[in-house]
Amino acid sequence: AGSTGDGRPRLSVIGTGYLGATHAACMAELGFEVLGVDVDPAKIARLSRGEVPFHEPGLPELLRTHVASGRLRFTTDVAEAARWADVHFIGVGTPQKVGEAAADLTYVDAAVESLARAIDRDALIVGKSTVPVGTARRLSGRVAEIRAEQGLPGQVELAWNPEFLREGFAVQDTLTPDRLVVGVAGPRAEPLLREVYAAQLAADTPWICTDLETAELVKVAANAFLATKISFINAFSEITETVGGDIRTLADAIGHDTRIGRRFLNAGVGFGGGCLPKDIRALQARVSELGLDRTMRFLAEVDDINLRRRDRVVDLAVQMLSAAHGTEADAPAPRGGKTTGPDRQVLQGKRIAVLGVTFKPDSDDVRDSPALDVANRLFTAGADVRVYDPEGNANAAARFPRLEYVGSADAALEDAELVLLLTEWAEFRALDPEEAGRRVAARLLIDGRNVLDVAAWGEAGWTVVGLGHRFDA
Ligand code: NAD
Repeated sequence: AGSTGDGRPRLSVIGTGYLGATHAACMAELGFEVLGVDVDPAKIARLSRGEVPFHEPGLPELLRTHVASGRLRFTTDVAEAARWADVHFIGVGTPQKVGEAAADLTYVDAAVESLARAIDRDALIVGKSTVPVGTARRLSGRVAEIRAEQGLPGQVELAWNPEFLREGFAVQDTLTPDRLVVGVAGPRAEPLLREVYAAQLAADTPWICTDLETAELVKVAANAFLATKISFINAFSEITETVGGDIRTLADAIGHDTRIGRRFLNAGVGFGGGCLPKDIRALQARVSELGLDRTMRFLAEVDDINLRRRDRVVDLAVQMLSAAHGTEADAPAPRGGKTTGPDRQVLQGKRIAVLGVTFKPDSDDVRDSPALDVANRLFTAGADVRVYDPEGNANAAARFPRLEYVGSADAALEDAELVLLLTEWAEFRALDPEEAGRRVAARLLIDGRNVLDVAAWGEAGWTVVGLGHRFDA
């Protein structure tokens, strides 16, 4: 390879969302010339001005620097990338199909096909999107077919290099990943990818070069494991919420066992985002297609446990408000129109402050966010929900415009009868219980992430109930 002056391969990144924009900027930071491609002209216009269209710490600085130097460029024209680059990374979305568990592969298929039709030279196509096992092998065949049909010049190989970055740490995870996994199907991919990841390899990053199927499965296996770990501790929450006990101490105690490990054992409102939920559903759908109906059945339970956490928050809100106010028998019907249980009537007109609606802190991503779902359920049940998220208000408002969004935690707390902490942003952990107490109408709080010092809040006169803890009225 090596078609730039310094002999390094030129890179393109197709799809410049959370994954692709980060990958493109980080590759430029490592010294490569990079061309980002997206079908969304508004996104490309912003990126070309050096603006990141979403919140990701550290990314704006990298993008500005490398757009200014000209090392990083953006276009909506895939043919330009096809003519120019040696390596094409595919980072387009693979969302859940509407009304189905399976992944929607239309974007990945379209991106690979458009490249295959336009490349007129030697090149490597490297999938990074999360896909069902078998997709890379199928696309590899499709690329060969298209190129043979059209008699195009050059050798084009396809590889899969799943991405493990975490939103909120995306830059760090791309520059210094825990490991690199590449699935290859021919002789050219590994040496070329070793050139691309030379900096990471020099830093002794574990390098796992394998076949296409294993590479695809590593990604979904990792996400299935992480989701299971979260639902595992949340299933124990259902027990401690019933019999009493301290879920944090339980997690600490089992976490000391190095075979188990403490991370991802935080009881709370559950996992969400654009990856874990849809990835465990797509995996179940894929194994069923393969005739392995029972194999991933436990993931249906993992999903159910996760979704039940949202019911628990609403039930707990009802219990706490009922204990404080008594139930109001002749309240009007809830907004949804349907009759909920009489106990939910207590939510009618209650002022509830929701702190955090993104699926995790340090991101503006509200895709499949448990926090936003809970806020919307409370609103639908008749509560006056006031939301504040440091970065997520705009994305949340685009989905649920009828909730009230405010610009600070203080504004959300003003006169609230119940406070819900649902995303563990540092600024919420740092709230002063005394000061917060002076703003609210009642010192009642549900800690949906178990991050507050319950004793300190209790001293300031608050009733704080963490998820996974029993509430005794
Ligand atoms: P995203 O929705 O933020 O970005 C996808 C982008 O692809 C969009 O900008 C869209 O306009 C663009 N696109 C769609 N079709 C295109 C085409 N034919 N050509 C060019 N661009 C096209 O999604 P994301 O969160 O970046 O996720 C992308 C993939 O990466 C998914 O498979 C996801 O599972 C995987 N992934 C995401 C993360 C994460 O934290 N976000 C981490 C690991 C893996």
